[in-house]
Amino acid sequence: MAERTAVVVGGGIGGLSTAAGLVRRAWSVKVLEQAAAFTEVGAGISLWPNAFRALEAVGVTDQLGEGRIGVAGGLRDWRGRWIVRMDDTVDATKYPAGAVVAHRSELLTVLLDQVPAESRMAGARVRGVRHDGRRAVVSYDGGELTADLVVGADGVRSAVRGAFWPDAAPPRYSRHTAWRIVLSRPAALAGAGAKAWAETWGPGGVFGMFPMPDDRVYCYATATVPPGGASPDGELAELRRRFRDWCEPVPTVLAAARPEQVLRNDIYYLPLLPAYVSGPVALVGDAAHAMTPNLGQGGCQALEDAATLAVLLDAEPDLAVALRRYDEVRRPRTQQLWKRSLMSGTLSHLRPAPVRVARNAVLRALPRSLFLRSLSRPFSWRPEVALAGR
Ligand SMILES: Cc1cc2nc3c(=O)[nH]c(=O)nc-3n(C[C@H](O)[C@H](O)[C@H](O)COP(=O)(O)OP(=O)(O)OC[C@H]3O[C@@H](n4cnc5c(N)ncnc54)[C@H](O)[C@@H]3O)c2cc1C
Repeated sequence: MAERTAVVVGGGIGGLSTAAGLVRRAWSVKVLEQAAAFTEVGAGISLWPNAFRALEAVGVTDQLGEGRIGVAGGLRDWRGRWIVRMDDTVDATKYPAGAVVAHRSELLTVLLDQVPAESRMAGARVRGVRHDGRRAVVSYDGGELTADLVVGADGVRSAVRGAFWPDAAPPRYSRHTAWRIVLSRPAALAGAGAKAWAETWGPGGVFGMFPMPDDRVYCYATATVPPGGASPDGELAELRRRFRDWCEPVPTVLAAARPEQVLRNDIYYLPLLPAYVSGPVALVGDAAHAMTPNLGQGGCQALEDAATLAVLLDAEPDLAVALRRYDEVRRPRTQQLWKRSLMSGTLSHLRPAPVRVARNAVLRALPRSLFLRSLSRPFSWRPEVALAGR
């Protein structure tokens, strides 16, 4: 068979994992990234068991697996009372939990290792894509490339999506802004609970804390604020003000952080698309289904998209058939998680005290097993599900 060619637009998690999966299956691939270098922001990312299976399918095996977090941890209210608590008595083997919180740059590095240098084109901003139903042409700052397949992995403001879904609604502000910090674990947090995770819910805001390998901690905070804001005295000062009265260890962690460690981003999501494929063009990751981060699944789903494409294109010689199947299996799954994420974001950011009290009471009354089952349901995904029932 003649060598098959692909152009991947965007060199983030979705684009590089797609490229890795295709290169591994002998495709000739070019990844066009608009930035001058392939980099990621300095924050953590939770990778759940489904992400690890996807990573394996695109060639990443042993790396990043260290420092898995168990189920121990839970949800608290801002006064420190547990809403849902999992301790060591929970039988972790019953639930496919166990995330690793990696640094984003570490994830990008292991993906870049799978994509040969000649496949990577940084500083190549894509301006347009067209196709005649069979082959696609990508115009970028440095010229044009023609390929059998074009993958739009260019994020929430995707130019590829704009070209083929011109009527699709633009990204929407979720009403929430996120702050993220990676720091060395403060000495005060050493000890028995150091490996537990916790998310704390307060009036209109959330503070999360996850252990990372090498004694680092990943923290995130979200709040309901208008978009486009910036604190005049810096984002760490803003966080210390907002979370001053919250239970420990929130103030301790914020006291230990340094201003340059804090990232602030408004959270946008994409209204749902009716298809992820048009002719020989497919969307992956945020370009297809940018979701709110409340389940920690956006990046994991980008990895699943990449693995699914690779597995299907390998098994099915007819590109149109493989892409049709890709759309069939990826749209329902990602859109269901998108909805759950949005719902979880609304639930966790409730403001009026009586509503929060009622919410917490309902959650406290739920059996822990139900909570864990619902939390871990998405994690059992395997790349081969795409091949079933073809
Ligand atoms: C606060 C926050 C916390 C999150 N936490 C988690 C988490 O814990 N776990 C998780 O799984 N997910 C998480 N996510 C979601 C995750 O970050 C995204 O789903 C993931 O980064 C999407 O990857 P992507 O490659 O599809 O898009 P992006 O990361 O947006 O990458 C797109 C790439 O395309 C490039 N590009 C754009 N336009 C062009 C163009 N015209 N030409 C060439 N290149 C272009 C961009 O420069 C960029 O490099 C979080 C998101 C947020 C906002």
